[in-house]
Amino acid sequence: MTGQAEDGGLFLPAEIMNVKDQLATWQQLSYTDLAFTIMHLFIDDIPSGDLQHLIASSYSGFTHPEVAPTKAVGDLHILELFHGPTLAFKDYALQFLGNTFEYVLQQEESLNILVATSGDTGVAAIHGVLGRNGIKVFVMHPRNKIAHLQYMQMATVIDANIHNIAINGTFDDCQRLMKAVFADLQFKQTYNIGTMNSINWARILAQMVYYFYAYFRVIESSGKIGAPVIFSVPTGNFGNILSVYLAHLMGLPVAKLILATNDNDILTEFFNHGKYTRGTVHHTPAPAMDIQVASNFERYMYYFYKGDSQAVRQFYDKFDRSGCVQIDKHSSSPVDPLFVSHSINTEKIHSTIRSTWEKHGYLLDPHTAIGVEAAKNYIGNVPVICLSTAHPAKFPQVIDAAIGQDLARHPQLQALEQAKHKCTELPADIDAVMDFLRQHA
Ligand SMILES: *Cc1c(COP(=O)(O)O)cnc(C)c1O
Repeated sequence: MTGQAEDGGLFLPAEIMNVKDQLATWQQLSYTDLAFTIMHLFIDDIPSGDLQHLIASSYSGFTHPEVAPTKAVGDLHILELFHGPTLAFKDYALQFLGNTFEYVLQQEESLNILVATSGDTGVAAIHGVLGRNGIKVFVMHPRNKIAHLQYMQMATVIDANIHNIAINGTFDDCQRLMKAVFADLQFKQTYNIGTMNSINWARILAQMVYYFYAYFRVIESSGKIGAPVIFSVPTGNFGNILSVYLAHLMGLPVAKLILATNDNDILTEFFNHGKYTRGTVHHTPAPAMDIQVASNFERYMYYFYKGDSQAVRQFYDKFDRSGCVQIDKHSSSPVDPLFVSHSINTEKIHSTIRSTWEKHGYLLDPHTAIGVEAAKNYIGNVPVICLSTAHPAKFPQVIDAAIGQDLARHPQLQALEQAKHKCTELPADIDAVMDFLRQHA
């Protein structure tokens, strides 16, 4: 339930069990049975039957029978993670989180969830708590600064427990306001305010499932259990790729992780040169990855420093002070032999969307295109699985700019155009936000 530990650190499992011997049995499982089997290893305070039920109901609204299908596109395998209610991969974690919050609350009181968003997270959070008892959600977005479709996906949800707030400011203002609310411990406690942001451990856990699932589907056709695969992951806050990193620590056979970024290449610089330097945020056609400092990277650093918390603390102290850390390494050796990383610019995003459409008749969303382009150099004997993190119809302008045709459609999104919408406008002012919460929480 708690996003962050009281000392400001992030939670990790005390033990990471090795599951290599179980992979052959797991191969037979359906998505939800696999999800139960994996998540049960880390959850000991929800009875099995209840956990099974929570998982089943979390994925019952997904529109594909396999939940997370893998498709062959040219020499690559595309893991489609857009079959949930908001058409982006965040549904795989946030549907479960919304259900679990509701379940835990049955014994306790009500919860008010505060979210700052530049798009996808807010949409998925709203749909994660939709119709759940005892939970209200307050989503702040920068007014007129998010994609129109994402605004409509949020604001057309007019249920009484959903509050969309358009802040007259930037996304940074929204994050600053959220932090200010959380810093007021008295207020936070009085109104029982929680969050669903990407540092929540349950999100990382729920995301591990589709890596195992995709591994089994791809290996079924091309090899036998134990043979390695490569994953290419379009990365922003390092949440999705952290899930596969942990799956690998558990024994999932991974030969390489391709960390794909857009012009915001701070993580690419780290894995290629050992240099971690804060820059300014570049706006790209893949806005969910327009992030400089990835919040989940801290979790990876714990394993990078082999569990030495002191070293992690020093790394982050130095980064906070100077905005730049260079780690010690031999110039010829990689920072981490498991990772390779590539930064893909806007022109390449467009050309990859175009060429994939022309060659294979398959439409990529701009985030997915980044992972696909980064994966091109690794096609060979080891199967490459690219994560498709959103449906292309969420980004019609980008598809249009790339291909010159208005091809990206989804009936669910088209229906939104006519729907009623509701949103409250507030100044970028902490008193105004707190007043609103007092009135509605
Ligand atoms: C959130 C998001 C990402 C980035 O995922 P992280 O877990 O933050 O690295 C990539 N693509 C899409 C479409 C997203 O919504």
